[in-house]
Amino acid sequence: MTDFSQTKALFHLPEGMIYLDGNSLGPLPKATAQRVAQTVTDEWGEMLITGWNKAGWMGQPTALGDRIGRLIGAEAGHVTLGDTLSIKVYQALASAIEMNPDRKVILSDTGNFPSDLYMAEGLVGSLGRGLELQTVAPEDVMGTLSKDIAVLMLTQVDYRTGRMHDMAALTKAAHDLGIVTVWDLAHSAGALPVDLSGCNADFAVGCTYKYLNGGPGAPAFIYVAPRHIASTRPALSGWLGHASPFAFDLDYRAGTGIERMRVGTPPVLQMAALDASMDIWDSVDMDALRATSLALSDQFIAEVEAACPDLHLATPRDPQVRGSQVSFRHPEGYAIMQALIAQGVVGDFRAPDIMRFGFTPLFIDASDVSRAVGILGDIMRDGTWDQAQFKTRAAVT
Ligand SMILES: *Cc1c(COP(=O)(O)O)cnc(C)c1O
Repeated sequence: MTDFSQTKALFHLPEGMIYLDGNSLGPLPKATAQRVAQTVTDEWGEMLITGWNKAGWMGQPTALGDRIGRLIGAEAGHVTLGDTLSIKVYQALASAIEMNPDRKVILSDTGNFPSDLYMAEGLVGSLGRGLELQTVAPEDVMGTLSKDIAVLMLTQVDYRTGRMHDMAALTKAAHDLGIVTVWDLAHSAGALPVDLSGCNADFAVGCTYKYLNGGPGAPAFIYVAPRHIASTRPALSGWLGHASPFAFDLDYRAGTGIERMRVGTPPVLQMAALDASMDIWDSVDMDALRATSLALSDQFIAEVEAACPDLHLATPRDPQVRGSQVSFRHPEGYAIMQALIAQGVVGDFRAPDIMRFGFTPLFIDASDVSRAVGILGDIMRDGTWDQAQFKTRAAVT
């Protein structure tokens, strides 16, 4: 699919809302409710335990993994689903570290999502062999690469600013120095074309509830390059990653291929929701999606800068180095965002001062962008954000 005028009708969007937060939690595809209900009543209800075989529940993590794999340039049979992204980060990093046993440094950047850094800290603490997590400014990553570094762990697109790393160049530079790479695609999968295979990436992980519209709590995915998988040792060696789970051996033997990165029971109801969403994604042309996403982002930047001189662009102006979101800074960004949400324009806020807007061509078009900027411009001009009701921070921002 290259013409996105049709796809908007495939989503449920609340009346009057302009949803610019599909980068954080994607909206509900109209087919999802029925698909999940069917899995509940026809499969769980009628088949009970036989659903694992009859309804193919056990094969879903790799079947859905392959459908996601097409969007991220993975070789078939090298992506599987399960758990949350934080867990998948831990799992990828643990395996990557073992590939460079004599090196002590995990390098990441200060723009990374905190959970990725927290998981790395936790792992380093458990391993207790003098490993250290080093973070540098995103623009300094390339210059910091050295033969001391075991693993380079980066999120391709910065969750706050939308700045995008050059995956091909960094992976090549890392490999030239013997560094193993772990790429987090949380803000890439479904946002822009990714070419894991072409970039020679080693490990990649991502989530399916952001751009992929799998719903809150949707499982994460993990990719391991074909050249590594046979020697990858799973640190989270759960029974469903075992070569023969139903032999119930007392000793762990890693399963074949990407199956070894499975851990425990897959989330069948969440996978049913993701299945309905992937029916849309299966026909999406990622190059066309990227072109449309950048056009919408460019339009938003130009219109906001014309209408709101007090907002400062936090996202790179150069389309080559940004993902599918646009962020603006303002010291009162939280209150401005709450005032916007009150008028039906939904984005989100990231501390300390970032207002974040996601551009998702499947359900956002140029007229939505213009209407959203019109409302934002009025709020800024009239100062409607400057009210107590917009300044109290909720638990989730
Ligand atoms: C959204 C996001 C997460 C969230 O992890 P969960 O375990 O799914 O809550 C982690 N890392 C990055 C880079 C993200 O953008």
